[in-house]
Amino acid sequence: MAGGSAIRGTRVGAGPMGESERGESAPRRRVSYWCANGHESRPSFALDAEEPESWDCPRCGLPGGRDEQEPPKAPRNEPYKTHLAYVKERRSDADGEAILAEALAKLRKKREG
Ligand SMILES: [Zn+2]
Repeated sequence: MAGGSAIRGTRVGAGPMGESERGESAPRRRVSYWCANGHESRPSFALDAEEPESWDCPRCGLPGGRDEQEPPKAPRNEPYKTHLAYVKERRSDADGEAILAEALAKLRKKREG
């Protein structure tokens, strides 16, 4: 344990808005992205790095775009359904039908009884 120096650089209350700059020497810029749900995410990039065209929203996972007015559309269709997902879906359908049939049977009994 050669102590101490690793902790250096941890300052409390560094930034005016609670943003602490932990010894980042390279200047960074923040880029805003908006998703289809109107969430804004502001990842930061190095000045000389090119920001990506889209950024996945950390809140809902939709892709975000640079244009607040026209965020990328949420992918709504599910083009590739795996076989497993398909089987699962069918199974839950069948379960649902069984539950429904059971409920109907109870209902009928009630009426009769
Ligand atoms: Zn979002």
